[in-house]
Amino acid sequence: MTMLTPGRVVVTGGAGFLGSHLCDALLARGDEVVAVDNLITGSLDNIEHLFAHDRFTFVRQDVSNYLWVPGEVDAVLHFASPASPRDYLEKPIQTLKVGSLGTHNTLGLAKDKGARYLLASTSEVYGDPREHPQTESYWGHVNPVGPRGVYDEAKRFAEAMTMAYHRYHGVDVRIVRIFNTYGPRMRPNDGRVVSTLLSQAIEGKQLTIYGDGAQTRSFCYVEDEVRGLLALLDGDEVGPVNIGNPNEFTIRELADIILEVTGSSSEIVHEPLPVDDPTQRRPDISLARRALGWEPRIMLTEGLTRTATWLRSVAHD
Ligand code: UDP
Repeated sequence: MTMLTPGRVVVTGGAGFLGSHLCDALLARGDEVVAVDNLITGSLDNIEHLFAHDRFTFVRQDVSNYLWVPGEVDAVLHFASPASPRDYLEKPIQTLKVGSLGTHNTLGLAKDKGARYLLASTSEVYGDPREHPQTESYWGHVNPVGPRGVYDEAKRFAEAMTMAYHRYHGVDVRIVRIFNTYGPRMRPNDGRVVSTLLSQAIEGKQLTIYGDGAQTRSFCYVEDEVRGLLALLDGDEVGPVNIGNPNEFTIRELADIILEVTGSSSEIVHEPLPVDDPTQRRPDISLARRALGWEPRIMLTEGLTRTATWLRSVAHD
């Protein structure tokens, strides 16, 4: 293991759901953190508790534009991007730009500073997968011209650009493919399935299942995810590495568990399935287990209970 800590780390998307948890974890282990975010899907609410911290700085900037951070930098973590299908369908051009130009700019920063680089990629690079579960060697099944293509192709380009900087410029890179992650600080109205169904259950509204609910996803609690991200950052494996929870559920099963966890008696209604919605998704995490000694620990019911508690607390703010 080549531990970097303590170091000075730039986190793009630092005010987002995952980015802000990453800032917390980095600060907790002694790193200095520069969070960069343009706040189009991120929120200052996620990082306001860090403003008084003497090792934390926030820079409001769109990393699709040229980015400069003065001083030494040991690691650049590129986590800026709309990540909910609803968000990237509403902001298709910004999604393409942050995955392409934003990746180029942040790789340039890492190269200039001699910093390690971690790219937040995604299970969406596998598209609507024909291989199940998905291993890192699977090339994917993506529709480049469909509505989800703006995210999938941006992240596929980002992976290619990251490997080009690695091979051509010798930048020390890591690539993570993140599978569905949930937990406190997801926006209740971000359109994703966990935040949406949990909010609906808590508010006694109908739970909206898209399609028949037979499609599957595998949900990882944010604390597990962040522990995996730091293990990848600190280790020697370049990747790509899948970091996700391999326990797979149909959306119908998820809805039932959410009703149980919240004690809600909301009805379930069905709405049309979005275009190109993947039918199945489950990470093979053999590589993460072997190379990083990582695996998730938090069961879905436990993670959902914690997330519901958080959602209730912000609803009463
Ligand atoms: N979904 C649903 N109801 C909702 C939101 C999403 O049934 O209110 C479904 C969606 O069609 C997909 C799955 O839940 O099959 C996961 O959707 P999400 O937007 O969370 O992320 P994705 O994995 O598709 O990127």
